[in-house]
Amino acid sequence: MVQEGARLIDGSAVAKKVRDQVAIDVAELRSRGVIPGLTVVLVGDDPASAVYVGGKEKASREAGMAGETIRLPSTTTQGELLALIQQLNHDESVHGILVQMPLPKQIDPDTVIDHIDPAKDVDGFHPVNVGKLLIGDTDGFVPCTPAGVQLLLGEYGVRTKGANCVVIGRSTIVGKPMAALMMQDNENANCTVTVCHRHTENLREHTCAADILIAAAGRARIVTGDMVKPGAVVIDVGTNRIDDATAKSGSRLVGDVDFDSVRQVASKITPVPGGVGPMTIAMLIANTVRAAEMVAK
Ligand code: NAP
Repeated sequence: MVQEGARLIDGSAVAKKVRDQVAIDVAELRSRGVIPGLTVVLVGDDPASAVYVGGKEKASREAGMAGETIRLPSTTTQGELLALIQQLNHDESVHGILVQMPLPKQIDPDTVIDHIDPAKDVDGFHPVNVGKLLIGDTDGFVPCTPAGVQLLLGEYGVRTKGANCVVIGRSTIVGKPMAALMMQDNENANCTVTVCHRHTENLREHTCAADILIAAAGRARIVTGDMVKPGAVVIDVGTNRIDDATAKSGSRLVGDVDFDSVRQVASKITPVPGGVGPMTIAMLIANTVRAAEMVAK
């Protein structure tokens, strides 16, 4: 069955809903004397990181949360960063700690993540939280992008039980936690999950079997209409900057999905931008308010 055009999954609208709810939860916590606080640590002057951090600051401020961004020079040593994290771990006004990646090369990101208190690891990258996700312990924090994708599927009434879910990408940030989430034994998951990567043979064979296709490869438009099962739900996590002479800046953002061809075949699809992207920050502040609630209890 060829669809006339897939329904758009509006990540901006769902993210707003999440943020509005967070603002209500923050107000409630404030009335009990708890002000949820997110501290973001930015090391160096990577321009893309500065933009991401600005978005996180704005969202947490708008939700009524406290918090700050600590900006450190690119010459910061690993020891200095670990000392700061220890200080934040012990600071009761800090409920969430986020160290913006990538870090300068003298700092090992895994060591840094290991030093964040798992109860303040609102990114969900600490091994304790990764392990909790894998064993289905809902006490932990789930990485924001996969959590946002799962919420989008729920908001748009996508049936997950028994569905074939194919994830392209196996990174620690997106692909692996995404796959772990969709295979959980709960009403928002229960999928049969396939994970594809660079060594996957015949990617198309896998993607064509997907009822839910989640692309997180970081490769512009690698998923084309002929790779999608008619009626599938397609979630595009990818954000790739490509040259575009017609754009003012000379470039523009596209996903991993070739939107024009895939929307002819899919039943539902996320656009880029305006799909998964806004959900990531919304889930970050939702995780932070949850961290504060856990402390308040
Ligand atoms: P990553 O660490 O580079 O991982 C990419 C994954 O895709 C790897 O597992 C890689 O396989 C796989 N891959 C690459 N090319 C492939 C191909 N041709 N066929 C099949 N698999 C392929 O990237 P990431 O951090 O997961 O991010 C993925 C994309 O999502 C990026 O565009 C990133 O900017 C975007 N992103 C967006 C958000 C958001 O909020 N919207 C958040 C996070 C990430 P190997 O493991 O074999 O190398």
